[in-house]
Order: sequence, then structure tokens, then C-alpha cells
Amino acid sequence: MRAPLRQGITTIATLMVAMLAIAAPIFVTIHVAEQQALEAAKERVLTYAKDVLKRTDLTAEQINSGISILSRSPEPCSDANLQLMRQIDVGSSYIQAIGHISGNHFDCSSLGSEDVDFDIGPVDLVQPAGMRLRRNVEFPFARGSRFIVMEQDGYAAVIHKDLPIDVTTESPDVSLATLSGPSREILSARGPVKQQWINALASGGEVIFADRDHVVAAVSSPRYHFAAIAALPMQHVSEGVQAIAMFLVPIGVIAGLVLAFAIFRLARSQLAMPAVIRAALRQDEFFMMYQPIVDLRSGTWVGAEALVRWRRPGGEMVRPDIFIPIAEDSGLIREITARVIKLIARDAGDLFLRYPDFHLGINLSSADLHAPETVGLLYALIADTRAGPGNLMAEATERGFTDPVAAAETVNGLRKAGISVAIDDFGTGYSSLSFLERVEFDCLKIDKSFVDTLNTGAATSQVILHIIDIANSLKMVMIAEGVETAIQAEFLRKRGVQYAQGLLFGQPMPFPEFEAALMKSQLDEAVSAGHAR
Ligand code: C2E
Ligand code: CA
Ligand code: CA
Repeated sequence: MRAPLRQGITTIATLMVAMLAIAAPIFVTIHVAEQQALEAAKERVLTYAKDVLKRTDLTAEQINSGISILSRSPEPCSDANLQLMRQIDVGSSYIQAIGHISGNHFDCSSLGSEDVDFDIGPVDLVQPAGMRLRRNVEFPFARGSRFIVMEQDGYAAVIHKDLPIDVTTESPDVSLATLSGPSREILSARGPVKQQWINALASGGEVIFADRDHVVAAVSSPRYHFAAIAALPMQHVSEGVQAIAMFLVPIGVIAGLVLAFAIFRLARSQLAMPAVIRAALRQDEFFMMYQPIVDLRSGTWVGAEALVRWRRPGGEMVRPDIFIPIAEDSGLIREITARVIKLIARDAGDLFLRYPDFHLGINLSSADLHAPETVGLLYALIADTRAGPGNLMAEATERGFTDPVAAAETVNGLRKAGISVAIDDFGTGYSSLSFLERVEFDCLKIDKSFVDTLNTGAATSQVILHIIDIANSLKMVMIAEGVETAIQAEFLRKRGVQYAQGLLFGQPMPFPEFEAALMKSQLDEAVSAGHAR
């Protein structure tokens, strides 16, 4: 029941992860596209606004210099000045006409005096520097066209009203405007211009922002009393997003699909694991490694833990933390344990004859502890290896005691046959530890996670001290696991921990290598004992 349920959950989780895997890159992509499109739009409107302002500034510059030349003459409408007016008119790209004005009439101009003798209307805007503007003038000779007349010191220039905003934009609905004067009145404009946009320029300089439906840039001239605004309707920005998304979303989709495919493959291989483990048992892909256990006082090798290894036909190694839990869930662990016991018998057939005080630790899972056959398997191992009392040690985790009564029966059966029993990974489970009252253990293995806390020396975990107390009060010998540094070993030795296992002393190794190293360790021991004598 448990395994299929877990597989169902795994499948649903996989599907959800796969959907996320597809959706996430697309969302990220669109978000990135939006950001990019907005940035690009801001840059574009700023360019438009600057173009408009540049044209306005240039116009003002040409008018200023023209008027300053003309004002040198004492007689505004002299032939010489008229000549100059025509030269300025022809020489300036922006000025349509220039002349002298009195009241609301041109006295004379570059167009010839008879043509301009009519009322151009009152000034409607005065700039602080004294430039007087008429923003909407219609001349009889150019009906339908609107002009701006800029007047200073009695002279005035005529420019086409649309000239400053005659900027090419990506689409005709980009709003453009030139503003003039301290209150920033619109001089000329194309498209709608909102008062808020003008207000945003209150502090001068340059502002770029987006409101609900436009991206807006406003710039003011550092030299003249002019400013310019450009605004791009938001819809053009989303068109930009679509363009970028059209390009990026397929990439996102492909990335998502690749990811989802990888996840599906991984999940499928996980789901297929039990079948693969069964095949691995048939094809003999498991073998054992042995990790030495040393006496912390003398450094002698007193035992070893047998650790199963799985090498796939391709040479790939599968870690036990991956396949042992799967084997446990799919009911295959007892077959693996049986195989482990066989492999140990093959490796260590005469080990105990040569090293009668040596012990081998064998890991048992929960299912093993609850199966009556386990005791029989280990009896057979005793026979095969001619093991004496204490040569074999079963390692059981507290998670293994789901049914303490049945597990206790196995433990007692093993101990009766002279197999010592260790409680493995002590302190890492969630059990109530009440099984400690029911089951007698010979040995306690202090988990690596507690040994790890000894590294700093500063804040030593109190838990490890409690664990040592428990072991002592229940008369269990201790093996510390995962000892990697001399500092850890020294701490443990001082606290009375008898044995240890870990990279400091030796990593798990294949049996032939292990046996050679064991022989060497025993020789060294004999030699140093000889010296001591
Ligand atoms: P475990 O029983 O706690 O085994 C100790 C693990 O710690 C081993 O990992 C060992 O290689 C590793 N180890 C030992 N010293 C050090 C050290 O100094 N540093 C570090 N970082 N690691 C160290 P391994 O061999 O990968 O085994 C992992 C787990 O797989 C074992 O944890 C055990 O729960 C399970 N397992 C291994 N072999 C068997 C087996 O034959 N049967 C069963 N049922 N479970 C097994
Ligand atoms: Ca173990
Ligand atoms: Ca352990």
C-alpha cells in the first residue's frame, strides 16, 4: 500500500514540477521582455524630446543672432537693414521671415514691405528674457498655415508653427510639444499633451516616466526659456513586448520542455528503480566495502563496518542513501540484506580465524528486524565464517523499531547467538527511545551529525554529552561515526568514547585492500608493542 501511494504522490509532484518548469521560464521571459521594451521606449521618447528641444533652441539662436545684427542700425527699415533681413531669411533654415515691428504691424521685412502691412494681433506670451511671442498668427499670403512670431527689441522673426515639432517619429500618434515661458505654455504641439506631464518638469532638467497610458520624456533647455515633451502611447510599448516575447517565449518554451523532459526521465527512472534493483540482484551488481573501526586509545583496528555498494553495468555507482530507502519502500531490502550476508561470507570466510578479536558490523533495516528469517540468515553467516561471540555486530537504527516487540525478538535472538547489536544513528530518529527499556544493546553508534559539532571547539553540542551519558548508564560501548579530524578524535577519547570510525582512520575500501591494510595495522601494532616492552 505504502509504495504505490508514494509513487502516486511522486507522479503528481513530478507533473506539477514539470508544469512549473515550463511556466517559470516563460513568465521570466515575458517579464524581462516588458522591462526591456519599457527601457527601449523611454530611450526613444527621450530622443524625440531632445530633438524637439534642439530644433527650438536652434531657432531661438538664429533669431537672437539675426536680431542682434539688425539692431545695430539706427534706422530699422533702411535699405541696408532690408538687405540684411533678406540675407538672414535666406541664410536661416528655420526663419521664414524677419522684419521690424511697431505695435502689431510689420514696418518692413525680408518679404518686402507691401506684403506685410496688416495686423498680426497682440503678443500672447512674454519670456523673462524679454522675448515677446505671438503663438498663432495667420498671414493673408499663406492662409491655412499657422506661424509663431518672436519679437525682441522691435524686430520680429516668423517661424512655421510646426517647425520645432517637425521630428520624424515611429508612429504619428507620438505626442510632441514645445513649451515656452516660466509657466511652460504650449508653443506648438502635436497630439494630446497632459498638464501633469508639463507639471512633472517643474524642477527643470530632464524627466522620464510612464503613466497609465504613456511613456513620457520632458526636457528643458539650459540656455533658453524653452522645454520639450514627447510621449509614446503605452500600446506601442506592449507591441515591443510582443515582438520580444515572440522571440523569447519559444526559447522559454524549449527550455521548459527540456527541463520537464529531464524531470520526467528522472522520475521514470526513480519509479523504475525497484525493477532495476531486482535486475541488479540477478546480475550480481552489488559488492561490499569495509570501513575500519579503531580503538581511540591505541589506534588499533578492532573492527569494520560492511557497507554495500552498487556498480551499474556502465560503471556508474549508485549511492546507498539513494537505493537503500527505495529498496526499503519497495520490499526489496530483505533480498539485499540476504545478498549482503552472502557477500560478507564470500569476502570474510576466514577473517575471524586469523583475527579472533575482530568484529564486522552489518546494517539491518526495519524489515530485517521484523522478519523472523533474519536470525537464521545470520546464524548461517556464523557458520560460514566460523564467527565466535562478538565477531559479528548487527547495526539497527532506532527507525527500525516500528514494532518494538517484534524487533526486540530479533535482537534477542541475535544476542543469544553471540551477535552483538548496535543502535545506529542514535539520536537522529524521532522515536520515544522507550524501546531502550525493552531491548538490550551492546553498542551505541554516535551519529556523524553530532561528531560534526565538535569541529569548532567553541560551541560544543550538549547533545553529544547526553548521548555519552545514556550509553554509559546503559552499559553500551560507543563507536563515534564520521570522525574526520584529530580534534574530534581527541575530544571523544577524553570523554570516554572507546571506538571511532571515519575518514581520519580510513574510508570504506574493497575487501582485498582492507585485508592488506588490516594486516599492516596489526603488524605496526605488534612492532610498537615490542618497542614499548
Ligand atoms: P551508516 O550506516 O550511518 O553508514 C555510515 C556512512 O557514513 C557510510 O556511508 C560511510 O561511508 C560514511 N562515512 C563514514 N565515515 C565518514 C566520514 O568520516 N565522513 C563522511 N562524510 N562520511 C563517512 P555510505 O556507505 O554511503 O552508507 C550510507 C548509508 O547507507 C549507511 O549509513 C546505511 O544507512 C546505508 N547502508 C550502507 N550499506 C548498507 C547495507 O549493507 N545494508 C543496509 N540496510 N543499509 C546500508
Ligand atoms: Ca551503520
Ligand atoms: Ca550511522
